[in-house]
Amino acid sequence: MYELVQAASRSFYIQSPARIGVVLGKGNEVSLIDSGSDKDAGRKVKKLLDARGWKLKAMFNTHSHADHIGGNRCLQSQAGCGIYASGIECALARDPLWEPAFLYGDNPPRDLRRKFLMAQESEVQPLEPEALRPGWECLPLPGHAFDMAGFRTPDGAVCLADCLASEATLAKHHVAFLVDVEACLAALDKVKGLQAGDLRPRPRRRLPGHRAAGRAQHRQGARDSLPHRGHLRISCQLRADPEAPLRRLRPCHDLRAARARGQQGAILSCLA
Ligand SMILES: [Zn+2]
Repeated sequence: MYELVQAASRSFYIQSPARIGVVLGKGNEVSLIDSGSDKDAGRKVKKLLDARGWKLKAMFNTHSHADHIGGNRCLQSQAGCGIYASGIECALARDPLWEPAFLYGDNPPRDLRRKFLMAQESEVQPLEPEALRPGWECLPLPGHAFDMAGFRTPDGAVCLADCLASEATLAKHHVAFLVDVEACLAALDKVKGLQAGDLRPRPRRRLPGHRAAGRAQHRQGARDSLPHRGHLRISCQLRADPEAPLRRLRPCHDLRAARARGQQGAILSCLA
């Protein structure tokens, strides 16, 4: 964990629970794509950059989920660098209380304010085109999060954030976390287009935000990491009955009843 893996000539990722992209720019300057799950991740990233003499110049958040922005504050306080995120992801990352508040639909209890769902605050700015590093391209990939973005680096690596999930992840959690099913399907079509070479130059390496399930999946390639469209079709059908997946999850079969009884722990295990 936390080893540096080369993805293209000047693009790397740090193998961690949520992958962190590291892209070399001019000289020893580097930019990060996401920052890890918490301040410990931030410290490990800083140590890794320092060991190579790399200077952190900017950070780009793919989306505002705590496991992707948890290292923001630690790294920004040490490097004094700018952090950028698209659209509403910027607002959510600036004020991380919105994340558990959005999930809970109310003032979130303490169990929902832990680092798994709520990152520390950081100074995040809107991602305008001029903030991008030279030769970078921002790829809007909404669906999993409102304004999630991927990034293509000049040497052909494409960071896809949480657009892709491994079959093992879907098998484990049964439902994908999506805020917009149709947008997610459109984003998956876009990702398939990347494979077909719609993006020139054709990407050399596509990097999902989380590790694939195992070696077999690595061998099969990222294509097989696309979420089953069947899962998404089920999600579409569930729009008519949005609480159906919650009823299937244990140990909390009735989220509303648990909430009424003040069983925050049950709700948390239901959401995890
Ligand atoms: Zn996410």
